[in-house]
Amino acid sequence: MDEVTLEEAFGRIERKKDDIIAVLDHIWEHPELGYKEWNTHKYLKKKYEDLGYIVHEVGDIPGFYIDIDTGKEGPTVAVFSEMDALHIPEHPESDKATGAVHACGHHTQLAATYGTAIGLKDKDLLSKLSGKIRLFAVPCEEIVNGPFYDGLLRNKTVKFLGGKKEFIYRGLLEGVDIAFMIHGGAKGFGVSKGWDGNINKRYIFEGKTSHVASPFNGLNTMNAALVAMNAANALRERSVDALHMRYYANVVDNGGGAPNNVPMRTVVDVGLRALTVKKLEEMSRDVDRAYIAGAYSQGVRLEIQTTMGYCPRRESRPLQLVFLDVAKRLFPKEEISDTENTSAGVSDIGDISSLIPTVHAFIGDGGPSNHTVKFHIIDKYRMGVTAAKEQVGVLLELLGDNAAKAKEIMEEYKPTFARREDYLAFEEKYTKTLKAVDYDADGKVLFKGE
Ligand SMILES: [Zn+2]
Ligand SMILES: [Zn+2]
Repeated sequence: MDEVTLEEAFGRIERKKDDIIAVLDHIWEHPELGYKEWNTHKYLKKKYEDLGYIVHEVGDIPGFYIDIDTGKEGPTVAVFSEMDALHIPEHPESDKATGAVHACGHHTQLAATYGTAIGLKDKDLLSKLSGKIRLFAVPCEEIVNGPFYDGLLRNKTVKFLGGKKEFIYRGLLEGVDIAFMIHGGAKGFGVSKGWDGNINKRYIFEGKTSHVASPFNGLNTMNAALVAMNAANALRERSVDALHMRYYANVVDNGGGAPNNVPMRTVVDVGLRALTVKKLEEMSRDVDRAYIAGAYSQGVRLEIQTTMGYCPRRESRPLQLVFLDVAKRLFPKEEISDTENTSAGVSDIGDISSLIPTVHAFIGDGGPSNHTVKFHIIDKYRMGVTAAKEQVGVLLELLGDNAAKAKEIMEEYKPTFARREDYLAFEEKYTKTLKAVDYDADGKVLFKGE
């Protein structure tokens, strides 16, 4: 994009910097937890409408998008901003009633994306671009649980607890070709190679109780769980470090049995993480086998509840290069990082990245780490205003020149799932309940599937 157009867009953002920082402050002061972001939704809807945009609301859950059409044929690029806060009641600035606080810095994303809408509010500018821009405000990125969320799933209000997954499911990403977002992180600006995906398991062992004085009359589920955990631990030596495999288990329920009874029910929650979908699938199969072995060895029943978490975050390298190019204008050279680092963290942006070319970049002001009781923003200008400029700069680079760059990025990308249907089928496969080990009337073991 030519220098003048870029500077004009940056200038529009700069002139409204107080407005952008006011949005950042307002949302920090009114934090809301996942799928409860209704006040944030209403506040932002009004702000976008005041700019003259049409807000497309999702409806029964918080969240919306606005479309900015250049009027010319071309790809659609989505920008994500996340709406949810974290539950950290110990944080001094948390909401006293709900314990919510924006300790992951999502409020800065909402301000930056609002700033992006300001930067694009110009007919002359849009006439130099091709395609469409879709700005998203998405609910519920953080991992949540509890009765409210069980209710949302039970009532079928949502299919997924990750907002971006839910948006894919609802078809809101249909026709979107490229996506990106900028999340708060360490000081400066950077891109990294990716993150893990995850699958959650609940293993429920059911046996038979008896007095501990006559354990031979019982079927001890704790023993079955211990065999299973040892078998699963033994799989660790097969993990490849570069793939960031993680296995962690937690006994959550012993059935409330008395200490002098053989435990007839043991429940173990397990988390699995890996850097590729293929590795995740292997882990799911192998760890299931270990738990099946535990149940079989003690002659107890086993139910396996599998829930797909988030897909691994993959990054589009050519799209990263556009980000780094724009960042050179906005950040000191020594603060720009471009690393091959990966981590065992997870996010629902991973699911987006399995379908279309995606970048999840980081911006940071050097303040306290996110997810901690000390977290707060020390440089609101950078996190709101500079981030808005970065996003606008990237959009102009992608969609200028007949969207040549965007098309090149789409060309290079190989999806994990070719179509949304394939993605949903995969989710279905890894979200199920299976009576994995059972016995017939004669006590003969029945194995059901893997
Ligand atoms: Zn976050
Ligand atoms: Zn977070």
